[in-house]
Amino acid sequence: MFDGFINSLYIVASIFFILSLGGLSHQESAVRGNVFGILGMILAVGGTIAAKSLDNIGIVIGMMAVGGVIGILVTMRVQMTAMPQLVAILHSLVGLAAVFVGFANYIEPLVEYEGAEKLVHEIEVYIGVLIGAITFTGSVAAFGKLQGVISSRPLMLPLRHWLNLVIAIVCIWLGAEFIGAEAQADGTKFLLIMTVLAFLLGLHLVLAIGGADMPVVISMLNSYSGWAAAATGFMLSSDLLILVGALVGSSGAILSYIMCRAMNRHFVSVIMGGFGTSGGSASASDIGGEISEILPDEASALLGSSKSVVIVPGYGMAVAHAQHPVAEMTRKLRDKGIEVRFAIHPVAGRMPGHMNVLLAEARVPYDIVLEMDEINPEMPDTDVILVIGANDIVNPSAQDSDDGPIAGMPVIEVWKARHTIVLKRSMASGYAGVDNPLFYKENNRMLFGDAKDSIDKLVTMIE
Ligand code: NDP
Repeated sequence: MFDGFINSLYIVASIFFILSLGGLSHQESAVRGNVFGILGMILAVGGTIAAKSLDNIGIVIGMMAVGGVIGILVTMRVQMTAMPQLVAILHSLVGLAAVFVGFANYIEPLVEYEGAEKLVHEIEVYIGVLIGAITFTGSVAAFGKLQGVISSRPLMLPLRHWLNLVIAIVCIWLGAEFIGAEAQADGTKFLLIMTVLAFLLGLHLVLAIGGADMPVVISMLNSYSGWAAAATGFMLSSDLLILVGALVGSSGAILSYIMCRAMNRHFVSVIMGGFGTSGGSASASDIGGEISEILPDEASALLGSSKSVVIVPGYGMAVAHAQHPVAEMTRKLRDKGIEVRFAIHPVAGRMPGHMNVLLAEARVPYDIVLEMDEINPEMPDTDVILVIGANDIVNPSAQDSDDGPIAGMPVIEVWKARHTIVLKRSMASGYAGVDNPLFYKENNRMLFGDAKDSIDKLVTMIE
């Protein structure tokens, strides 16, 4: 009777998780999606604690309280621009948990397994620890790159693909030895050696990826963390954890696929560090030409005299917290009868959907926020494009060069409009470290300064 009750709690929790994912797929329903996720988690954790009649319930609740307080403090203090790093480091914890659960479960199994069950259990442990270890160091490396602790440039070791292949083959061989091991001490030794190798593999795979491929890596690690959780679910015989892990794993994999398509990348090439392998991108000296500055009063006059304006937001808008003045400027321009639309690149900012979230927060109407593919054909008919703190996503050299960190990445073709105005603080390059020929084009003007300060000035000047 009690078991039936707990199982129905788990079913309701699973439904909440599925509703949560559905809600998170659209901005309008994202808050509702989060609420469903929280409810699902409360039921899942509450049900598990109630079902297990734990001897050490005091320790469990104590650790949950400590973890919960740390989580609340971190999320209250984290800047929106640092969310991707936070997500990466949280993924690393999921991976590490899978490693610990795997070792604990092998050394002291919940039940004594025999025959085929023992074989299946050992495979579960091995795969769980393998995925967990790769996720752990891969996520730590991603955190380092996003935080700027490690260079975002790809690490190109000689024979790196061979190195990965050799590690993978040795891991498979160790797996066979682990499963065939008679004594637990031998099995633990093989598991330990594989864990160290998997740590190295995770680190190397992510360090070898650079520039514009990082978004795919983040969603891929998201997917790995889901599979690590699912593997933990198998080890602990928890149907709910298997289901939740599979949901996270498969949605992360779908997101990675979508991002690869948007970036014109092959998934396998990205995860093997195949792109961004050379530094042959345009440099300022290759580009040449003059840059032409514009002052806020001239920019406001140009905007005021135009019929159609497209705003391209990027990472710098997030850094400057300029979304609210941008929304205010949009309202003023629309009140004057000017058509204003936003062009969103799939990897603008530092996490998938970053710009959509900021614009939604500033209450920019959804119907004027368009995806890159929708708006690109309309560029030649646009009077003024305002590029606000974006760089890589409007870099024409992505289309012109065959190698370099952003080569082949589809970009927003702003240079085809009549005028472009780029708002940024300096001539510094963007995340991928590539200079931008757009800044030197004849129809482009640079409005230097912090994006929020510049937009504040424009807002006061637009009558
Ligand atoms: P970029 O990082 O290419 O460029 C941002 C620009 O903003 C910089 O050139 C900077 O120039 C400017 N900037 C920074 N602060 C301010 C400020 N306060 N005011 C005005 N300008 C400012 O950003 P994009 O959005 O164009 O491209 C995103 C890049 O990040 C891509 O390469 C993408 O691959 C990568 N990436 C994306 C992820 C995702 O999931 N979306 C995840 C990881 C990486 P200056 O210093 O001169 O002001």
